[in-house]
Amino acid sequence: MPEFVVVANRLPVDLVRGSDGEERWQAAPGGLVSALAPALADRQAAWVGWPGVPDAAPEPFADDSLGPDVTLHPVPLDEAEIAAHYEGAANATLWPLYHDLVAAPVFDRDWWATHRAVNRRFAEATAAVASDGATVWVQDYQLQLVPRMLRELRPDLRIGFFLHIPFPPVELFRQLPWRREVVDGLLGADLVGFHTPGGATNFRWLAERLCGADVDDAPIGLRTASGQVHLDGRTTRVGAFPISIDSAAFARRGADPATAERARALRAELGDPTTVLLGVDRLDYTKGIGVRLEAFGELLDAGRLDPATTVLVQVATPSRERVDAYRRTREDVERTVGRINGEHAGIGRPAIHYVHRSLPPDELAALYLAADVALVTPLRDGMNLVAKEYVATRPDDDGDLVLSEFTGAAEELTEARLVNPHDLDGVAAAIADAVAEVGSDASRRRMAALGAQVAEHDVTRWTEAFLGALG
Ligand code: UDP
Repeated sequence: MPEFVVVANRLPVDLVRGSDGEERWQAAPGGLVSALAPALADRQAAWVGWPGVPDAAPEPFADDSLGPDVTLHPVPLDEAEIAAHYEGAANATLWPLYHDLVAAPVFDRDWWATHRAVNRRFAEATAAVASDGATVWVQDYQLQLVPRMLRELRPDLRIGFFLHIPFPPVELFRQLPWRREVVDGLLGADLVGFHTPGGATNFRWLAERLCGADVDDAPIGLRTASGQVHLDGRTTRVGAFPISIDSAAFARRGADPATAERARALRAELGDPTTVLLGVDRLDYTKGIGVRLEAFGELLDAGRLDPATTVLVQVATPSRERVDAYRRTREDVERTVGRINGEHAGIGRPAIHYVHRSLPPDELAALYLAADVALVTPLRDGMNLVAKEYVATRPDDDGDLVLSEFTGAAEELTEARLVNPHDLDGVAAAIADAVAEVGSDASRRRMAALGAQVAEHDVTRWTEAFLGALG
């Protein structure tokens, strides 16, 4: 039986239904899969998660792409549960609440009841597969109630939890009608990890004030603000573990002549402009896509940038399209792209090249190489891996990064051009400066420092630090 169990909303593979009704599994590569792959590979391991489509209840099966002894355990969700738990409580309540109310959270009791029931199903599925004394690592905001539920079912387990999104300021968190249940849910874990010390501090405060826990300082995790939370005779350790990327793999791809060749071809397709600006995001209202579009548009309006020589490529991958706020965000972004292109594009020569699709890793790497300046301007983001990927991919210390202060990445990538995304003038000034200084010694020095930071703090460090602290 598995001695190491990952519990996540999604499995590392998606069940795909063809038009003929035929079902097949398709790899769902993502940051989490590559982060956890080494930890899964050499153990008896299991991954518990939803297969990604309604009403699918396949039997557990082995996935030898992850290791010789890794089994996947699908947790079924029906349409109503997807609507209430996933699109509702997770993505229309917790997501906006945890991202500084960029959109208004909806507090719906029925959604929450389903959310609780789904968390229980994940806890039960995990309790059924984990071996005696196994280590279980629960992932992210959709499953915050699982640690407590699992602890009650299986007191023998060692349970870790990592939150991949920001943990909000206490004044915001306290709006949640189920605030105590969430904090208590997380306190079922032996170790709770956040991206930033700020998240850990906020959680400690809430554990003390909402649950009456005793808290003391202790060195845990990769950054400070860690501590121990004591409640009901148990201790939960809390720390900051900023996630990262497989930096060497991105660097290899960036150094591959085929990537450089594709990057040259992309620049040619863009009309060989002098300067290419790049944004890559899920189409999410937290990502500040509108902010950078507006800033770019104002620079064109003012004649500070010339659309004949400077273009913006914005990749906005489709996301959560059944949630209202996401539909509105898409409309806003596309209206803004249309307006700016209407005012500034030449015939056959857009100022903004907008892509509403997901690109494969090779194409993304070529875009990272082709771009002189990456624009990462979220209003709030737990980490932001795109910023790290851009830096890691570029082999020659050239390029530039405009980065929102309100990302977890900004706490590490301090040599980037840090901006307040609410300050349109400041964002525009940073873009103009970055364009003016492309290739300068100063920007090279900063990119070299960023490259060294990302190369050293890669994802293996994150995984090992968390699992090391979990014990
Ligand atoms: N990504 C991708 N194809 C795309 C756009 C993005 O594979 O067309 C990947 C990107 O490489 C990154 C992830 O999606 O690893 C986005 O992670 P990030 O932390 O920046 O944002 P999130 O979507 O997790 O909020």
